Amino acid sequence: MIEDTITLAHGAGGVIMQKLIKDYIVKHFGGSNAEVPLEALDDASVIEGIVLKSDSHTVKPLFFPGGDIGRLAVSGTVNDIAVMGAEPIALTSAFIIEEGFPISDFEKIIKSMKATCEEAEVYIITGDTKVMEKGALEKLVVNTSGIGKRSEALEKNIAEVKKYRKSFNSRWLVDSNISDGDKIIVSGTIGDHGIALLSYREGYGFESEIKSDVNPLNKMIKKLLEVGGITKMKDPTRGGVANALNEWSEKSKIGILIHEDKIPIKEGVKSACEMLGIDPLEVGNEGKILIAVVPEKAEDVLEELRRHPQGKDAEIIGEATKKFNGVILETNIGGKRVLPPPLGDPVPRIC
Ligand code: MG
Repeated sequence: MIEDTITLAHGAGGVIMQKLIKDYIVKHFGGSNAEVPLEALDDASVIEGIVLKSDSHTVKPLFFPGGDIGRLAVSGTVNDIAVMGAEPIALTSAFIIEEGFPISDFEKIIKSMKATCEEAEVYIITGDTKVMEKGALEKLVVNTSGIGKRSEALEKNIAEVKKYRKSFNSRWLVDSNISDGDKIIVSGTIGDHGIALLSYREGYGFESEIKSDVNPLNKMIKKLLEVGGITKMKDPTRGGVANALNEWSEKSKIGILIHEDKIPIKEGVKSACEMLGIDPLEVGNEGKILIAVVPEKAEDVLEELRRHPQGKDAEIIGEATKKFNGVILETNIGGKRVLPPPLGDPVPRIC
């Protein structure tokens, strides 16, 4: 499947990107003795107690309904650290800018990053700025990296998991933690980010009702950890819910059953997806999390989620099971179908 040049699909978060990462990046960079190493391909890595994450953003357009590249960059990195159960400590920001880019737009992006950092209660403490000649790239690319650490909330959460699952011995919330019976929760409506961007970009007009959900979720996540019982969380960005669930299923060697009628989705997103022939389960989100939780704590976690504006539409959408492998979707009409990992994102360049 990998051809001799890079295509957009190689950055689209699905099977084609995974193969590029495994065949080239992991092949050459793997081999560290990190606690959560590169090979785990988790939301972030852990070495000597430090959670580390790097994230680049090439969204088109830079300003979109509900957010901009700056808000996206900060939220994406904060969320990837937080879903490991860690508390973000600090971020970096690196800009690669095309010659001719308006300084007023640059400042708008910086201000948006600052505002998002204030919401997440983190600082950007180092960075880099490079300019390339006109035509060398498109306008502006931002990389944000970040570090995080263990927190009392994570210890509390893991102690709660162990009450119900004696065999749980993970120190972090990683993709391989999910076990038979875990409930799967989604924190809100899916597909908003990708569909808002696509619609705005192509002029379909859905963006009047659908805005990007881009948000830093670390403070809400901290509250959820304090409730406890969570085995793993994941932000279903590129590749959407379908990709995230398949990663869990593969790495935890467990089946996942999802009930379609439980999945929260806005009417506008549903109609846009129907019109465009896109599966909303494959569309990227930037302000949602999937949560796997021991069944005894699922209702408590759900109740806490619904107290937050970013979790008010949360639902339990399924469960992990030993009965089969892979991800199966029970459809609205009662049939069952395999939900495969997407080949790529149906909506490119959204993050
Ligand atoms: Mg992630």
